[in-house]
Formats: sequence, structure tokens, C-alpha cells
Amino acid sequence: MEYAKPLPSYLTKRYHGWKATSYADNKVWYRHLAEEGQRPRAMVISCCDSRVHVTSIFGADQGEFFIHRNIANLVPPYAPDGDHHGTSAALEFAVTSLKVAHLIVMGHSNCGGVNGCYDMCSGQAPELEKKSSFVGRWMDILRPGYNRVKDMNLDDEAEARRQLEKAAVVISLENLLTFPFVKSAVEGETLSLHGLWHDIGEGGLQNYDPETDMFVDV
Ligand SMILES: [Zn+2]
Repeated sequence: MEYAKPLPSYLTKRYHGWKATSYADNKVWYRHLAEEGQRPRAMVISCCDSRVHVTSIFGADQGEFFIHRNIANLVPPYAPDGDHHGTSAALEFAVTSLKVAHLIVMGHSNCGGVNGCYDMCSGQAPELEKKSSFVGRWMDILRPGYNRVKDMNLDDEAEARRQLEKAAVVISLENLLTFPFVKSAVEGETLSLHGLWHDIGEGGLQNYDPETDMFVDV
């Protein structure tokens, strides 16, 4: 693969800095993690967005979170059709092999993926309707969310988009339960599901409350 280039120098420098400080200070812990394997207590499904900094928000160290990121933190419905399913594969490994105790879906404010879904469903982004659009077909998972938000009859479009970000979390939680291994772990009380929405600008964090069907501040 002749197109692969050396790492840009700013990253090389940062790596050497990390090796000499953070790694050097915690060498024993890194060796322990390498030898004992990972035993994360939680799996987090969050957006690819570079502003979503899951480990920073929770002060998490190496080995603590099994993190899967995709566009708009979506979990597709269970579909054992022999195709490539990255999110489902990560989920299967976390639940059946790592046996994580918590499964956290974290949405966020100003989500580009969710906005794309909003635009697509409201007829403002025909390019996303094409079969060849990977983003568009991925965002099909959230179409039922658009219909739910539409039923709210909100006057404020910014609020409607925010509600769609939250619907992405709720629909993902619903889809999680379509996976037999998730459902049985939840019913057996070895796994708990959590839905979060993170406000990037305000540093806010809200937790989904199924009793009221609302997100409330943590
Ligand atoms: Zn996002």
C-alpha cells in the first residue's frame, strides 16, 4: 500500500511526549492491563464527533470504557443477515465476551449526523436519500425519530433538532433490546442500559428518565 505516509511531525512529537511522561509514570498499570486483558465495566456508544470527549467527561482511565463511536451514536435494529455490522459486532463482543455491567448511549448537542437526518427527512437534503449515501442510509435508523419529533408540533426548529438528538438516544436504547443477548442480560439484571445527552457548549449532561420520557440533568 504505497500511499501510506509517515505520521505528521506534530503527532510524532506528541507521541514521544506521552511515552516519556504519561506512559513512563504508569508503566506498571499498562503492563498489568496488557497481561491481564481488559475488564471494562461499561460500554459507551457515542458519536464520532471530535468534540465528544467521553473519557474526559467521566475522568476515565485506560481499561475502563469499551467505546464504540459511529455517526450520531446509533444502534441499528438486530439484523442477523450475514452483512457487515460494525456496531452490532462491538455490542456482541462487549455484552457476551466482556460482560459489561453498563451500556451507555450518549448523544450530544449540535450533532451533524442528526442534523443531516433532519434535513433528509424534511426534504432539504435529497443527496442523502441516494442509495449510494452511506451517511443517508445509516441515518435511516433515525427516521422513526423524525416522525416522533414531527408529532410534537414544535414551532422552534432548533428545538426540534435537539429533540431529534435525544430521539437518537431513545431509539438506540429501544433497538438495543432487539438483540437477544442484550435483552436476556437486561432481564437477568446483569446489564443496565443508560441514555445520556451531552450539551457541548454548556458542559451539560442529561439522563433519560423512562418514567417521564424526558431527559433530566445529572
Ligand atoms: Zn454527532
